[in-house]
Amino acid sequence: MIQYLLFDLDNTLYSARFGLEERVAQRMIRYAAHYLHLSVEETAAQRKDGETRYGTTLEWLMYEKGFTDIEEYYRAIHPADEADTLTADPELQKFLEALPCPKAILTNSNREHVDLILSKLKLENIFTHIFDIRWNNFQGKPRPEVFQRALDTLGTRPETTLFIDDYPRYVSGYIAIGGKGILLDEFDLHQNYPHPRIRKLEELVDFL
Ligand SMILES: [Mg+2]
Repeated sequence: MIQYLLFDLDNTLYSARFGLEERVAQRMIRYAAHYLHLSVEETAAQRKDGETRYGTTLEWLMYEKGFTDIEEYYRAIHPADEADTLTADPELQKFLEALPCPKAILTNSNREHVDLILSKLKLENIFTHIFDIRWNNFQGKPRPEVFQRALDTLGTRPETTLFIDDYPRYVSGYIAIGGKGILLDEFDLHQNYPHPRIRKLEELVDFL
């Protein structure tokens, strides 16, 4: 039986249609290109290769490129106006409030970004815990220890905690440690993904 719900934030608690995370990703690559003195295209190609080893661009820069200025990086990729187009969804708010389990967030973003997004979505009072990248010592999903630390703090186990994320690798990583995971695949992009998949968050009730 599911006792806790663990949500990703970006493109999970709001639609990818807003383009917000896509713009963050573009800023990450531009920032990395500037730091590495490479073209955006070359940086994107290298980052794609690094993706097989790291869940986040920051980890790739830190562990392979000697990068250390973490706070400047976050200021650059998350400008103050990044969520200006994001709007709250009262239906989602009601849906989350009505779910029978407590809810937490596990994100590879930083806390300032989480707080901005949650205030825009008017979801500030829904979650018992927010596990951000700083809390995880700048190590991100899909590392097994990142999931395990969150579960230990919640006092739950993988098999009783349902994790919902829009990245196949992150959900697969959670399933690999024995967790119950669902891929939120809003645009039906991952048809070959071998595990449970939903198009809308509301469908997660089928897994409780
Ligand atoms: Mg996401």
